[in-house]
Amino acid sequence: MTNEDLAESMESELLDVALRGMRNAKVLWGFRVGAAVLAHDDKIYEGCNVESEVAGLGVCAERSAIDHAVIHGNRKIRAVGVVADHPSIESLTPCGACRQYIKEFADGDIWVVMAMAKSGSIQRSTRLRRRISELLPYPYRTNAFSSQTTLQNLVQP
Ligand SMILES: [Zn+2]
Repeated sequence: MTNEDLAESMESELLDVALRGMRNAKVLWGFRVGAAVLAHDDKIYEGCNVESEVAGLGVCAERSAIDHAVIHGNRKIRAVGVVADHPSIESLTPCGACRQYIKEFADGDIWVVMAMAKSGSIQRSTRLRRRISELLPYPYRTNAFSSQTTLQNLVQP
């Protein structure tokens, strides 16, 4: 699979695995989120949000899924699926921290597909598909200001 395409079947599979991950979410005050990443080994790894009594100590579903892939030896991901049990479209898109994390592990300008979940099933009509470069046009890079970096390099995904 190239980064240019993401088959409809793969999009559906990513959302299905994300939904499965969502069922394990540990939620104290927020809402349940599931994520799935297609990793370099061609396997899909799921994640879920895990909230903590201590603010800031929990983890989002997207980062949980990426860590799951990393634990299995992957350092690159090819696509991301996100499912949220929340009726707002804004709640579907990854938070800023996750956009940065996705970008750091992305194999190119990968797709992030999102959908709402309701009563345990994916609401296909709510599906959104965005490139990581659309979600995070200016990622943070520790070497962004090295002598070889030009403004052109800085703004390219
Ligand atoms: Zn997040």
